Amino acid sequence: MELVYDHILVRYGELSTKGKNRKDFIRRLTSNMKQALSGFERLSFEQTFDRIYVHLHGTPFDEVSPILKEVFGISSFSPALKVESDLETIKEAALNVVIHSEGKTFKMETRRHDKKFPFRSDDINRACAGRILANTEWKVDVHKPDLHLKVEVREKATYIMPFVVQGAGGYPTGIGGKAMLLLSGGIDSPVAGYLTMKRGIEIEAVHFSSPPYTSDLAKGKVLDLASQISVYQGQIKVHVVPFTDLQLAIYKNCSESYAITIMRRMMVRIADRLAQRRNCMALVTGESVGQVASQTLNSMQTINEVTCMPILRPVVTYDKLEIIDVAKKINTYETSILPYEDCCTIFTPKNPVTKPTVKKAIELESHFDFEPLIEECLSNIETVVMTVKKQEEDLF
Ligand code: ATP
Ligand code: MG
Repeated sequence: MELVYDHILVRYGELSTKGKNRKDFIRRLTSNMKQALSGFERLSFEQTFDRIYVHLHGTPFDEVSPILKEVFGISSFSPALKVESDLETIKEAALNVVIHSEGKTFKMETRRHDKKFPFRSDDINRACAGRILANTEWKVDVHKPDLHLKVEVREKATYIMPFVVQGAGGYPTGIGGKAMLLLSGGIDSPVAGYLTMKRGIEIEAVHFSSPPYTSDLAKGKVLDLASQISVYQGQIKVHVVPFTDLQLAIYKNCSESYAITIMRRMMVRIADRLAQRRNCMALVTGESVGQVASQTLNSMQTINEVTCMPILRPVVTYDKLEIIDVAKKINTYETSILPYEDCCTIFTPKNPVTKPTVKKAIELESHFDFEPLIEECLSNIETVVMTVKKQEEDLF
């Protein structure tokens, strides 16, 4: 018969969190875990100083594990048997775990958190190994064991664990405040959003859409991408900005080679004001230096000049292939490469300037009063809340 693990023991970044930060970290992590696992009705959660325990109450570990793997802030976790902190009981439980596992060799590793427990870690390791060797064909292998059996002795209980699952790492999303992601339909910006959330920053997204030059399919694609990365924080608000009039005005009033630069400056101006309204402390883009003509340092400097907010560019130094690797890992790649037009692709000039300057951009913008169009964009924003479920509902 299969052995049923009744708990999951969750480990988190112990080194980087101290004092009040630590309390906030645990509280936020537990709440993010609860949200991610809200589809499982029977679970309950227990926080302690250095661990979080998920009580499974009959829910299979294998169903919970893939979701837990996506929660930022978790360094690793294990299915666990919870038993009384009593040496005889621990030995029996360790034997039980081995009997129900695949393999031929094992290694014991005990941590005695309860220093009042009358046996030292080594004694516990030896006692458990003795019981296993006497009752099975298994052998000890300290270098490459098939089964790395972990035991944690605590005051209230002892946990016996057959293996460790690597967590997503990073910080619990939301603990580092909120930022506004400029989300296009491309490969890079969803990856940038994912990496930002991984550092503990919650995101909202802004998308510039230019109907009828861009289609509903193109907008749908962006919303699908948002829904795909919403898994890391439960939901994402996407603010869709109607950008057509402003974009046409740029092409009409500024020289063609500067059109992209000025368009980006307008996007950042609008994103900046929206971010302030939404209590975001930074902007995030998927820019990568040198990747296209409009992404040189000169270009970044010229675009940056219109905002005082930090612009986070998580993939700034990545190669395209490195970005694609992450996109595949987070399942956004297939959506990103769908061939729907983006507002930038439609209006791309033949010879964009690679070394724009702030001076020239300001000079070009002075020929036309863009402010009313910027305001109009801001007042006609449509906000959609995307969740993972929402995408599934749309599909059926
Ligand atoms: P991506 O793959 O993210 O589209 P890209 O390599 O195509 O990036 P650009 O098109 O130059 O690069 O865009 C650079 C960044 O500007 C994007 O990563 C995104 O953050 C932002 N951006 C571009 N177009 C839009 C848009 N229509 N709406 C919102 N943000 C945009
Ligand atoms: Mg793009």
